[in-house]
Amino acid sequence: MLVKPPEKVAIGMIGGTGVYDPEVFTDMNEYKIYTPFGSPSDKIMVGSLGTQRVAFIPRHGRGHNYPPHLVNYRANIWALKSLGVTRLITVSAVGSLKDEIKPGDLFIPDQAFDWTRSRPRTFFEEGLVAHVSMAHPFCPDLSRFIADKAKALKLPHHYKGTIITIEGPQFSTIAESHFYRAQGFDIIGMTLHPEVYLAREAQLCFTNVSMITDYDVYAEKPVSHEEVQKTMAENLGKVKKLLIDVIPSMSTKQDKCECGKALKGAV
Ligand SMILES: [Zn+2]
Repeated sequence: MLVKPPEKVAIGMIGGTGVYDPEVFTDMNEYKIYTPFGSPSDKIMVGSLGTQRVAFIPRHGRGHNYPPHLVNYRANIWALKSLGVTRLITVSAVGSLKDEIKPGDLFIPDQAFDWTRSRPRTFFEEGLVAHVSMAHPFCPDLSRFIADKAKALKLPHHYKGTIITIEGPQFSTIAESHFYRAQGFDIIGMTLHPEVYLAREAQLCFTNVSMITDYDVYAEKPVSHEEVQKTMAENLGKVKKLLIDVIPSMSTKQDKCECGKALKGAV
């Protein structure tokens, strides 16, 4: 049997909790991709949105099989890179560390703080050493483009601020939550790292759209499962609206940023 080689795609998307299926795509193909780091979280789905082709992976797998500390981040980024992806949009569900960042808001961060403990975080191990700059972890060009679209669509959102990634899978204690707030961090999640490191090593433009699900535990506002589910469903509607507007009109070029040159002088 002849197996068709996967097509080349410039735009990638990694979906977080609740985002398992790009139901807005048409002309969908699925590719099972093997990488030197093992299997990605799922088959890569490639579909069309407007005239653009997009490669999509659900971060946790379609059946939510992989918790944050067990996602094969290296295989996911490797697989997208092998398809030709240069510009990557990631979506995550997160908690808020500030009263003014409300459940139901979207957040496009420009800084990140890594508080994970045990995750493989580089493609460069024995033999080849690379130190890439992480001073500006997100692609400024793509992030601004998405924030402008969120503004034009009048979606409740915040642009610029810091996301902290904790190891999980447990949520924070109240003491930890107050500590993170005291550092000035804005939102808290479990998956941005090491995804953001690996994307930089792969020289991808990387941006993140975080959906605020609830307040972190500092607020001591217990929320019911139903409330969280309701907010999640509303968030998904907002993200879908945003991406349907962003993807067909975004550039597939890395000509307004330095992301495509991250390894220059780093190896
Ligand atoms: Zn870029």
